[in-house]
Amino acid sequence: MINFNKIYSLYIHIPWCLKKCPYCDFYSTIFIKKDEQIQKQYINSLLLDFKKTLSFIKEKIYIKSIFFGGGTPSLLNDKLISFFLNKIKNITYVLKSVEITIEINPSSISEKKIINYINSGISRFSIGVQSFNNKSLKILGRLHNSKDAINAINILIKRKISNFNLDIIYGIPGQSLKNSYDDLCKAISFKPNHISWYQLTIEKNTIFEKFKPKNLLNNNLLWKIFLQGKKIFSQNKYLQYEISSFVKNKKDICQHNLNYWYFGNYLGIGCNSHSKITLSNNRIIRIIKNKNIKQYIDGNFFNSIKIISHKDIIFEFFLNRFRLYEKIYKKEFVRLTGIKIINIIPLINKALKLGYLTENNDFWFITNKGHLYLNNLLEIFI
Ligand code: SF4
Repeated sequence: MINFNKIYSLYIHIPWCLKKCPYCDFYSTIFIKKDEQIQKQYINSLLLDFKKTLSFIKEKIYIKSIFFGGGTPSLLNDKLISFFLNKIKNITYVLKSVEITIEINPSSISEKKIINYINSGISRFSIGVQSFNNKSLKILGRLHNSKDAINAINILIKRKISNFNLDIIYGIPGQSLKNSYDDLCKAISFKPNHISWYQLTIEKNTIFEKFKPKNLLNNNLLWKIFLQGKKIFSQNKYLQYEISSFVKNKKDICQHNLNYWYFGNYLGIGCNSHSKITLSNNRIIRIIKNKNIKQYIDGNFFNSIKIISHKDIIFEFFLNRFRLYEKIYKKEFVRLTGIKIINIIPLINKALKLGYLTENNDFWFITNKGHLYLNNLLEIFI
């Protein structure tokens, strides 16, 4: 059996978008078509960055999932994605069962691209639909409309691809209970095996933070939308395995994201990406890459490399694990963090007392109250 510490996920950040959406805090810059040369240089830099990042790990590792995120990966020339994947397989060991996901933006996809992605080994597609309501899409600053989103989904269905996720946002300014109901029902009507249904939040350093949008929803309406959504998922036999993630079957769970939530190891390559590496002495390091595309392409990949303190490890472990709707085994906490249970007993006792957790000898379990007041629960572990 392969040691869990040697199994890694690989995230590749593609830092271009056609336009910046006002709610988005992911790192991206505007894509200019004539920059194809830059795309090629970027892919070559990614490969070099990958080799350099791998050099922090002394043993052989196994890649269990690969995720092209962004930005807008579907803006990249599909041949470059194929080239990149072939090279990666020559550099390190990629498990046969590897899950390879690409995020797709409905405004930059075609059937030809999808076919090429499949031929390159992409096995999972994540479509940034966000809403089927054109008014909501406009408020979100998206370039696509409902028809584009439906076209993108239909390309996958036509090619008999069932392993796809639809991203849907709720709590969009001006959205009614009925609008949200329609969005979710429409998404479910395509029978995706995975839906990410998440609430719009106003993030720091976004246009929405600077110029607060009109008609933000009040908590009362958000709560109604949330309860309605949970009911729709359950009526349609979708299983919630994480705060925002719903699947048709357990086998459809996104392995890449699950690895983050399990506090697994991962490598991030590309501008502003993060890596988490457990060294052979059990210390955990975090590497953050350079944000600046020009500097990154010039080979200045690293922004910071830090050993994560015990205090931060405890917080990060629970920050991720509390998102999941499953038991947290105590021995797993010890194995993944290298920290003894005795060191966190006062924190756990506080969470138990407030009714956010229950426990037995082997595991902790987050209660409904814990999920509802997740931020309060996490504050205990900061
Ligand atoms: S939401 Fe997606 S398309 Fe919009 S700016 Fe962010 S990464 Fe780009």
